Amino acid sequence: MTALKHFYETFQPAHYNLYIDVNRATKLISGTSTITGDAKETTVLIHQKFMTIKAVTADGKPVTFSTDNDNEAIHITLPQTGETTLSIDYTAPLTDSMMGIYPSYYELNGEKKQIIGTQFETTFARQAFPSVDEPEAKATFDLAIKFDEQPGETIIANMPEKREENGVHYFDTTVRMSTYLIAFAFGDLQSKTTKTKSGVEVGVFATKAHQPKELDFALDIAKRSIEFYEDFYQTPYPLPHSWQLALPDFSAGAMENWGLVTYREAYLTLDPDNTSLDMKQLVATVIAHELAHQWFGDLVTMKWWDDLWLNESFANMMEYVAVDAIEPDWHIWELFQTSEAPMALNRDATDGVQSVHVQVEDPAEIDSLFDSAIVYAKGARMLVMVRALLGDDALRKGLKAYFATHKYGNATGADLWAALGDASGLDVGAIMNSWLEQPGYPVVTATVNDGQLTLSQDQFFVGDGKEAGHLWQIPLNSNYDAAPEIFKDKTVVLGDYAQLRAASGKPFRVNVGNNSHFIVKYDDTLLTDILKDAASLDAISQLQILQDQRLLAEGRQISYAAVVPLLTQFAASKRAVVNTALYQVAGNLKKFVDPESAEEKQLQAFFNKLSADQVARLGWTAQKGESNDDQLTRPYVLSAALYAQNKDVIADAHKLFATNADKLAELPADTRGFILANEIKHFGNETLFDQLLADYRSTSDASYKNDIRGALTSTPDANLITKLIGKFEDADTIKPQDLRGWFRGVLANEKGEQAAWDWIRNDWQWLDDTVGGDMEFTTYITVITGIFRTPERLAEFKAFFEPKLPTPGMTREITMDIKVITSRVALIEAEKTAVNQAITTAN
Ligand SMILES: [Zn+2]
Repeated sequence: MTALKHFYETFQPAHYNLYIDVNRATKLISGTSTITGDAKETTVLIHQKFMTIKAVTADGKPVTFSTDNDNEAIHITLPQTGETTLSIDYTAPLTDSMMGIYPSYYELNGEKKQIIGTQFETTFARQAFPSVDEPEAKATFDLAIKFDEQPGETIIANMPEKREENGVHYFDTTVRMSTYLIAFAFGDLQSKTTKTKSGVEVGVFATKAHQPKELDFALDIAKRSIEFYEDFYQTPYPLPHSWQLALPDFSAGAMENWGLVTYREAYLTLDPDNTSLDMKQLVATVIAHELAHQWFGDLVTMKWWDDLWLNESFANMMEYVAVDAIEPDWHIWELFQTSEAPMALNRDATDGVQSVHVQVEDPAEIDSLFDSAIVYAKGARMLVMVRALLGDDALRKGLKAYFATHKYGNATGADLWAALGDASGLDVGAIMNSWLEQPGYPVVTATVNDGQLTLSQDQFFVGDGKEAGHLWQIPLNSNYDAAPEIFKDKTVVLGDYAQLRAASGKPFRVNVGNNSHFIVKYDDTLLTDILKDAASLDAISQLQILQDQRLLAEGRQISYAAVVPLLTQFAASKRAVVNTALYQVAGNLKKFVDPESAEEKQLQAFFNKLSADQVARLGWTAQKGESNDDQLTRPYVLSAALYAQNKDVIADAHKLFATNADKLAELPADTRGFILANEIKHFGNETLFDQLLADYRSTSDASYKNDIRGALTSTPDANLITKLIGKFEDADTIKPQDLRGWFRGVLANEKGEQAAWDWIRNDWQWLDDTVGGDMEFTTYITVITGIFRTPERLAEFKAFFEPKLPTPGMTREITMDIKVITSRVALIEAEKTAVNQAITTAN
């Protein structure tokens, strides 16, 4: 591409009059985009993609134009610069790509139906209407929509509808906003609405394939989230309504369109009477995330896509702040510690990873910025560090000023640091830039050298890494006053260890609370001191020891065999956060054993030993009034016992299946997946397989769908695996948005690995054609990388993906993933004997 200048430099829109006519039957969009703005040059650039431009006028007079598909542009020649009204007539195809304006398909009582919805982030508004499709090009919008309307259909958009005339729906003028946040949808919808304390109308919309009660949970969370943010930000919600819409076809998790947030059905609707607590927590955090964006992202928007992290990191932190406030009993920060923290620490340890802040211009590269482990999880950890340093009072004060200064406009990271710095008196920018601009993170090594307690920092790598001399400004959060608040240097000597230890009376620790983005390597003296009373540590500290030790083992800084006895040490914990971390770490041992080997038998015996007491304590059935921790722990210990081939647990699951065979959806949601998978694995046949696949197609309950997917992909039957893979490209059974989970399931099944790997290599072109434009496309490669662990697979992976290295948006992923598999293969080779010995000893 040549002309990579921002189009906003040539034309600055102030107001759009959009007329869009969508015909579902002919799959054609036709419309007129009338844009009033300031022409900065006599040749202006307006975005379009996949469009046929019929005519262009400027101030009512025809002008010369040319379409430039390489640059997704229309070049328009004007008689002069200055205030101009452009009017562009166009047509565009209505495609199934889940980008731009697109149909979502579903069945209602056996009848095939569709809803039309939109997805404009990042650069897809230009597929719906000609525009300056850049976040900085904020304008107001008058939207008018016509469609092949049927009786009873509903249409919604960012703003309320003001009138309907001759089948055209006219909406109120929007506030000043970015194109990527425009949204509308229509179809045969049901809804429930309520009002916040401040009078904002809140609604949840979904297809009528859902039971009405499936809308209730989201409505309650959305209402209370908006009330929370209005208070926390000290800034009113700026629109008259906040609609939440579940779309049957949806590529990402959810999208924060201003006033009309769209969601994957799985992240909005749920059966309030039978959904597991962890699923409810997940849905609540997704809703709170999108609603955090209504201010941070929508009201104040990043100036350009390089500051995407500003939107996402912030919303990712705020979703936990909000849910913690509205559902304090959930202890939702524990979910942050078991999900976001390890995700960020794993990904960010591979050399070649992107920094949180990345320069970017090419639209194909913009989508690859959405590295969820970095931009979302690591970025959120950075902001959690900031929050811990500032405290909530200064954070809120700084945010209020930030919104007041930049509302309806754009901002950069520096603007946020300036506002938070003013509110707190800290040089936030200086601290944060070391985290924002440098990829990776440090391991802080704590040692006693000649009696002196000493800290040093080095970049931590899993696999080969080039030490680039990076230093971070590390908020240490030590329990010893001798440690600095911010550790900036390569090393620091804290003083005489014996004296410090005696004075404090407790083992030395840093990163207490696990809120800073680094890991700690204690020497033997210090670690032994911590572990000798590990049972008395708080749950987060226990999780942190497990996570950090596993990472150190992955990075070959300690032996993996040293991690094994830690699992036994923490196995009796009644805290879900510890058990989650414990079974995450235990699951990592599976890579060291071959299927059906003597070593696998030993590992299964170890899993049985870890889980036996907890299985006996918790059983399959929830007790009335049991704690959240017990509810969340049960699935982990049952899953471990099933992996262990525990005969009693298998028999109990089989019994539960038999007594509920005619109402499988009604099995308790937190154990249903295990019961179904157990049945498929040990007692399955084609009839059951077909029955579950039919249920998958017909149910509207996303949790039940997930459970069925988990069960069917675990079949050991080669014929059924073939049959299943045959459904991968049948969108009536498996929607493209859900395919990755199915693919992963079969690939992770040792009996299905070869077939799944063959499928993706043979049908890569089909996959590219179907979901290739999608920002999640590269995660198919990540999924494969998560599973491969042998030299043979590594060679096959390279043979297949190395030729794709030059593909825009894929280079980094392929390069990193080769490193990840290479280091795993080497780790297994080096540590296998020691790990299996440690497992045998632990038994
Ligand atoms: Zn977001």
